[in-house]
Amino acid sequence: MTETLVTIDKAERLKQLPPYLFVELDRAKQRLEAQGQDVIDLGVGDPDLPTPAHIIARLKTSADDPANHRYSFTQGLLPLRQAIAGWYQRRFGVRLDPATEVLPLLGSKEGLAHLPLALVNPGEVVLVPDPCYPPYRSGTILAGGTVASMPLLAENQFLPDFGAISQRAARAAKLMFLNYPNNPTAAVATEACFEEAIQLAKEYHIIIAHDAAYSELAFDGTKPISFLQLPDAKEVGVEFHSLSKTSQMTGWRVGWVCGNAKVIAALNQLKTHLDSGIFQPVQFAAIEALQGDQQPLADAVATYQQRRDLVVEGLAKAGWDIPKPSATFYLWSPVPGRVPAHAALRGLADAGRSGGSPSMAFATRTLEEARVVITPGAGFGEHGEGFVRLSLTVPTPRLQEAVARLSKILS
Ligand SMILES: *Cc1c(COP(=O)(O)O)cnc(C)c1O
Repeated sequence: MTETLVTIDKAERLKQLPPYLFVELDRAKQRLEAQGQDVIDLGVGDPDLPTPAHIIARLKTSADDPANHRYSFTQGLLPLRQAIAGWYQRRFGVRLDPATEVLPLLGSKEGLAHLPLALVNPGEVVLVPDPCYPPYRSGTILAGGTVASMPLLAENQFLPDFGAISQRAARAAKLMFLNYPNNPTAAVATEACFEEAIQLAKEYHIIIAHDAAYSELAFDGTKPISFLQLPDAKEVGVEFHSLSKTSQMTGWRVGWVCGNAKVIAALNQLKTHLDSGIFQPVQFAAIEALQGDQQPLADAVATYQQRRDLVVEGLAKAGWDIPKPSATFYLWSPVPGRVPAHAALRGLADAGRSGGSPSMAFATRTLEEARVVITPGAGFGEHGEGFVRLSLTVPTPRLQEAVARLSKILS
C-alpha cells in the first residue's frame, strides 16, 4: 500500500447532501448499453428538439465581434435586462425595472442553488416542496439552512397545503421555494395558491422564490400565470425563468431572476464573487429568443402535446392510466399495478433506505424488461415515492417504441 501524503477529506457540507438515488439505475443502463442493448431514456428532462435557427444565427454573428470576447458584467447586458422586462410586460402585464429588478443567470439552476447562500443564515429554515427539483434542497443544505418540507399531495392537486405548515416552521422560515408549472408533478398553480403563499410570507416575513421554468410549455390553451402578477408579490419575492425549456437552450446556460430588488441585489452581490457573467454572444442570442420569432416555441408546444397524447393514450390501452398534464414535458403517474415482492426488495436495496421503494422497483423493472429508463419518484423527495416520471423529450418514433415496449411488460 502506498502511503498517502495528504489526507483528502471532503467538507462536511458535501457529505450532508442527499445521496444520488439513481446511481444503481444509471449503472444498470450503462451495463445494458455496453452489451449493445438499445435503451430509450425517458429519465432526463432535456429537450431533443434543436435550438431555433434564428437564435443560433445571432450567436454566430455576435461571436465574430471581438467586443464580445471579454469578461461580461455579472449583472448582464442592459439590452438583455430590457428584453426580459419587455417580455414580462407583453406576456404577463408585469412591469419590471431593468436596472434593479432583473438579473440574468448562468442558467436558472445556478441562481436557484445560490439563492440560499445569499439569503439564509445557518440554522434558518427554508420551506421546500416535496417532491421537488433537487437544487432547492441542496442549495439550502450547502448554505447551512434547515429544510422544512411542504408535501405536494395528489389530493391537493400537488399544491402546498399552507395551513399544514406549523407556526414554529413558519416563524423560523426565511425563504420558501415554489415551482409551477411543477417539475416533477406537472401541476399548474392557481391564483389562490400564490395568494395564500403571499399572505403567509407577509405574516411571517418569508421571502418567496418562484421557479417558472415551464411557464411557456402548456397545452390545450392553458396559460400559466406569473407569481409576480399577484398583488404584493414583488414585495415578498422573486421569480426565476429559463430559456432552457422555452427555447430548447439547455446547453447554453442562460436564465434570469426578476422581482424584488433587495433579493436581486443580494444574489448579484454573491455572484460578483463567484462568476464573471454570461458569454456576451449567449446574451445576444437570449435577446433574440425573447424578441424574435415565437413560432418555434408554438411548434415545440404542439410537438410535446402530441407526444403527451401518444403516450397517455397508448399506455391507457395497455391498462396504465396516467393523468394527462396541462403543462411541462413530464408525465407524473402513480406506479401502476402491484409490484411483485422480489422487485420491491431489490428496489429497497437500490434506494438504500428502509420501507421499500415501489417507484425504484418499477423503474428497475422497466429498464430490465423493456429497456426504458423512467425516473423513480423517490428521487425527488419522500413524497415522490409511489410515483414515476416519464419525460417526453425523445423523438416521437422513439416514444412510440417506448410505449410498445412498456405495453408488452404491462400486459
Ligand atoms: C429544467 C429546470 C430548470 C432550468 O434549469 P436551467 O439551469 O435554466 O437550465 C429550472 N427549474 C426546473 C424545475 C427545471 O426542471
